[in-house]
Amino acid sequence: MTDKYDVILIGGGPAGYVGAIRAAQMGFKTLCIDRFKGKNGQYSLGGTCLNVGCIPSKALLDSSKHFEQMTKHYDVHGISFENPAIDVPTMIGRKDKIVKQLTGGIAQLFKANKVNYKAGSGKLLKDRQVEITTDEGTEIVQGEHIVLATGSVPISIPNVDIDNEYILDNAGGLDVAAVPEKLGVIGAGVIGLELGSVWSRLGSEVTVFEAMDTFLAACDQTIAKMAAREFKKQGLDIHLSTFVKSATVKDGKVEVVYEKNGEQTTAVYDKLLVAVGRKAETSGLLSDDCGVTLTDRGQIDVDDECRTAVPNVWAVGDVVRGPMLAHKGSEECSAVIERIAGQHGHIDFNTIPWVIYTEPEIAWVGQTEEQLKAAGVEYKVGTFPFAANGRALAMNEPTGMVKLIADKETDELLGAHIYAANAADLLSECVVAMEFKGCAEDLARIVHAHPTLSEAVFEAAMNVDKRAIHKA
Ligand code: FAD
Repeated sequence: MTDKYDVILIGGGPAGYVGAIRAAQMGFKTLCIDRFKGKNGQYSLGGTCLNVGCIPSKALLDSSKHFEQMTKHYDVHGISFENPAIDVPTMIGRKDKIVKQLTGGIAQLFKANKVNYKAGSGKLLKDRQVEITTDEGTEIVQGEHIVLATGSVPISIPNVDIDNEYILDNAGGLDVAAVPEKLGVIGAGVIGLELGSVWSRLGSEVTVFEAMDTFLAACDQTIAKMAAREFKKQGLDIHLSTFVKSATVKDGKVEVVYEKNGEQTTAVYDKLLVAVGRKAETSGLLSDDCGVTLTDRGQIDVDDECRTAVPNVWAVGDVVRGPMLAHKGSEECSAVIERIAGQHGHIDFNTIPWVIYTEPEIAWVGQTEEQLKAAGVEYKVGTFPFAANGRALAMNEPTGMVKLIADKETDELLGAHIYAANAADLLSECVVAMEFKGCAEDLARIVHAHPTLSEAVFEAAMNVDKRAIHKA
């Protein structure tokens, strides 16, 4: 007999696993199917984010930050070390332990919430049936509702074949056994900059190739320009308008041919990281007659509320339009489950925070100045530098600024852009303010503890009306 479920989720990443727990909490008989296998060959819940994305990259960013602080920045505190060294296998082992703890934690949460879990591949058939292929064989289950949450996979480029020994994707870039002397990175996006920073801090000479002519085009350009100067100081050699034509492994090195201003150059690296973006993962997911359609970008086609072309079949997270961010997928899937339960699932795309976890961190929410200009919206700007913030100086983290943008007439906050140590956490109060349709004046009237980095947000809010206290 076919097993029946109220909700079947295909994909156990931050979209699918969060939605599965939410569904079970609401009393639905829930099944989550996931096929991800970790580097030990074992099935592992948590998707890209927990296994080879957000969490392992942050573990390595933190380890490498400690090393860089020791080697470059502790002397001002009067702290010195003799021969600081990095043991890469220990660092990678720490990262693997965190991944294991968190992915194992999801399995526990599934048990505690009575979410059924099948390790294997799910394929949507017609009439909301799902074929599951596990190591034991194949079975077919029936769902009242199906949520497709199969995420994304790295994009590859012609003549650059990933082998994860010399030419790496994100998974390989998180598992390097020794610090490469010279590292090439294709792509100056979030992943390229974060992983490039990790290995640069540990001593690699890092060259980044970026095809676009604008650095961090999605980011407010005041902040992007500051960040570009800082990356240069940190030793990241970033080449814009540069196209990698081919990469070939020869004698244990990677020979890269790239073109800039019509001129071709060949350079040799110990490793090459390919970080040119990700694409929706739908391989093996949809039977020909299931009825779900794809966009011309290969994403599952959904409406504003994540409905596919088939009634009661939904899709969320990286596999659909919108930013490829873990928290976007989680919120989107929770909202879908609430809709299934007859509630009003809600997600505000205008207040999704973006973060690049470099040093300093780059974090923003809402509109950039460039977007507002292009849309013809009249606005006012308040900025405040961390060089004038007492806590930032005490922490020896004076680089960066807060930039708040408010509507010229109504003072409603339209965008917040922070370049600072802990910018990701500092941004949260701006996200809350924007979600509540708050004004710059609202932030300027909230008491902020002294001394904190958050006082820079407070001062920038006051500076929207040119009345910051600690800014000349
Ligand atoms: P995924 O996490 O990709 O999960 C989908 C799951 O479905 C996978 O386990 C996959 O194996 C499984 N699957 C696919 N097809 C099938 C099938 N047919 N049957 C069964 N299972 C299937 N985002 C942030 O918000 N913050 C960050 O700091 C951040 N850092 C990142 C760093 C790196 C290096 C990378 C690569 C990504 C990072 N991201 C970050 C992006 C984030 O990882 C993704 O946005 C997020 O994982 C998407 O969640 P998802 O659930 O939609 O998909």
